[in-house]
Amino acid sequence: MSTLKDYRMDIKPNWCPGCGDFSVLAAIQKSAVNLNIEPEDMALISGIGCSGRISGYVNVYSMHTMHGRALAVAQGVKLANPDLHVICAGGDGDGFGIGLNHFAHAGRRNVDITYIVMDNQIYGLTKGQMSPTSPQGMETKSSPGGNPEQPINPLQMALASGSSFIAQAFSGDLKQLVSLIEQGMKHKGFSFINVFSPCVTFNKILTYEFFKKNLVNLDEREGYEPSNRGMAFNIVEETSSMFTGVLYKNERKTLTESQPKGSGTDMLRQGQFELNENMKDKL
Ligand code: SF4
Ligand code: MG
Repeated sequence: MSTLKDYRMDIKPNWCPGCGDFSVLAAIQKSAVNLNIEPEDMALISGIGCSGRISGYVNVYSMHTMHGRALAVAQGVKLANPDLHVICAGGDGDGFGIGLNHFAHAGRRNVDITYIVMDNQIYGLTKGQMSPTSPQGMETKSSPGGNPEQPINPLQMALASGSSFIAQAFSGDLKQLVSLIEQGMKHKGFSFINVFSPCVTFNKILTYEFFKKNLVNLDEREGYEPSNRGMAFNIVEETSSMFTGVLYKNERKTLTESQPKGSGTDMLRQGQFELNENMKDKL
């Protein structure tokens, strides 16, 4: 049985002291050990950005891919190696800017991988420009008068595009972060975990203190049902996305399980895909 030591590399991360990405690194290693996964049975695929360096810091199969393309590579790795546990990791610029297209399609496709985004609401590696999740009005190096654009809400996007497991975590709460990554890895299908991972050097607004003060824990909220999609959309609005925990979870066929074995039309007729009533009448 492997231990944390087996997952560590000799290379030390070059992240700034206090960067939220350290917690994500520790949480991935701890989750793998807790789930009894051997290093040779796991792959970590990352994009470009400070967070993209993570694939070089875990002793598993890994690839540091092109900007915004990590999800495409990770899905390919999983489809070609169905027995590997595949984690894809990156930042908000990588995943919700240049890579947004892949995020939406990964959600609807439901390949059995886990996608972890270290969302620090800024471009850290290029020294502090506004990112797709920077709040409107935030002053950055590229928006000295305040960000004029509305941010993307990754949780709403994941819900809308069909992701079957969606959660949000915070680098300042390692215990919950580990638990959510474990649940995501155990989930059969595409699991997405958005992690508030503060950039202590370039984002002086969305800090550890800010998140500690404002986050509510959905896992402890009485009456919240993660299987209820409507409730999930509502809670994102109600809390302005300031929560941690499992937002949404359902079981549906993965891409591999949905592969047609005969004629696609036969499968539709046999009810192997879900169809709305109007479509059924037309077959
Ligand atoms: Fe982390 Fe920000 Fe430093 Fe990058 S610049 S390593 S995101 S603290
Ligand atoms: Mg970022």
